[in-house]
Amino acid sequence: MNYEKFFNEQLLALKDDGNYREFSELERLRGRFPSAKCYNGPSEVTIWCSNDYLGMGQHPSVLQAMHETLDSTGAGAGGTRNISGTTHAHSILEAELADLHGKENALLFTSGYVSNWAALSTLAAKIPDCVVLTDQLNHASMIEGIRHSRATKIIWKHNDLDDLETKLASLPSSVPKLIAFESVYSMDGDIAPIAEICDLADKYNAMTYLDEVHAVGLYGPRGGGIAEREGLMNRLTVIEGTLGKAFGVMGGYIAASAALCDFVRSFASGFIFTTALPPAVAAGATAAIQHLKASALERSEHQVRVKQVRDALDTIGLPHISNPSHIIPVVVGNPVKCKYISDVLLKEYGIYIQPINYPTVPKGTERLRITPSPLHTADDVERLVSALEDLWMQCDLMRTSVAAQ
Ligand SMILES: *Cc1c(COP(=O)(O)O)cnc(C)c1O
Repeated sequence: MNYEKFFNEQLLALKDDGNYREFSELERLRGRFPSAKCYNGPSEVTIWCSNDYLGMGQHPSVLQAMHETLDSTGAGAGGTRNISGTTHAHSILEAELADLHGKENALLFTSGYVSNWAALSTLAAKIPDCVVLTDQLNHASMIEGIRHSRATKIIWKHNDLDDLETKLASLPSSVPKLIAFESVYSMDGDIAPIAEICDLADKYNAMTYLDEVHAVGLYGPRGGGIAEREGLMNRLTVIEGTLGKAFGVMGGYIAASAALCDFVRSFASGFIFTTALPPAVAAGATAAIQHLKASALERSEHQVRVKQVRDALDTIGLPHISNPSHIIPVVVGNPVKCKYISDVLLKEYGIYIQPINYPTVPKGTERLRITPSPLHTADDVERLVSALEDLWMQCDLMRTSVAAQ
């Protein structure tokens, strides 16, 4: 086989479909979120698609905690948790996370992806005859974890309680069951009916595993996520989250009972055999969590900005998927136009929004996913919306009836 030829052909096929991924080279500027230095467009751009939803990655107390810990403990953790990587900073962070979710314990991983992969694969593989009931739109990291477990997997229709119940009822009552789902789904911004799923879990004696990656820091009185906001944290078996999105740093975790955390700690390859997070990263995450537990200001301003952007889009009749979360998906419905709009936004308007194409979303639903933050100004919003209006006309895209008047 000519290996190079094979790679190049596969890449060419992606490019022909308009699905080839190109990364913008950006450098965030300390303390200046959402501005960034750009190396493949105008020198400075405004970021409108960051998952650092609240700008905590630039927050003074997060940076201070990271500087202090770096200066006092050095760069890396020194190995896996088992060998030398359980530092004081890791223990403090796990206690902070357990408290955030009202659970007995928490367990850190190097990313949210790894936490889903490791926890789900370990639980589903090690519990004899476990059947995993997984929402159709679950994140790749959950899918991979479940696949790796080789447990029986049943996919239920997205957020569909009837379908979930039918599938639960089809299983013998003695079979161990694990229901895996997310709170905020990041592509459409819709939210799962967590309480009703917990009711079904109780009725059929199933465990629940909730990915709150797009909700931690952003919802609930202390930033514990949608389950906190709805008073449901105690009903979930496992709550999983990331430290890399609203908490602005990096890492992932599960929060659960002491026994479950100890079980995953003891059996998960993806926990045991990899170097722990640098202590400075753990300290930065702790500072972000502590700040957002005490301050609701970022959360409320976040929601205000989201509403401002939605209202401005409505005023010019730009269609966006309505949902109860902070994610504003503007569907273009064509991969080539979607990428074109994103390119022109960057090069001519200094606005960075990564196009979201297949396989992240289904073909025909290619979109721009706008994530406003409390740090975007009214002027930023105006520039964004007027740029989108120009491009919508240029690309001859549909508008809602408001605009036709
Ligand atoms: C981003 C994401 C993850 C992975 O988290 P990382 O910390 O970025 O690895 C997990 N689940 C969902 C739903 C995500 O969007």
